[in-house]
Amino acid sequence: TPYSEEEEDLQYRLRTGEVVDETTYPMVPHMCSEDARLQTFQPWPSSAPVRPRALAQAGLFYLGEGDRVQCFCCAGMMGGWEAGDTAWGEHSKHFANCFFILGHDVGNVPSQGGAAA
Ligand SMILES: [Zn+2]
Repeated sequence: TPYSEEEEDLQYRLRTGEVVDETTYPMVPHMCSEDARLQTFQPWPSSAPVRPRALAQAGLFYLGEGDRVQCFCCAGMMGGWEAGDTAWGEHSKHFANCFFILGHDVGNVPSQGGAAA
């Protein structure tokens, strides 16, 4: 790429941490941990057709109202879950550019709580 003073400046500020590249960093860093996300689902409505663990594994945490959830990485919000929906399927359908969905290392911490699914 041709030399660009502007780009050089941005790269410098990214390296020094002065600015954060929001395309690769999670929007909700305190929800990086799958266990932390799972904790938010304690009041999750049992009538909802998607299970908390599946949602947490798909990067989602509960917003505490209705069946609205949000992604820790892209901050995308979803709700109105219907029978047959899957957490990962809806996340990738509505937020296909989410770096977590795309498989980038965005700081996700998988659950240490065993293999129960
Ligand atoms: Zn996302």
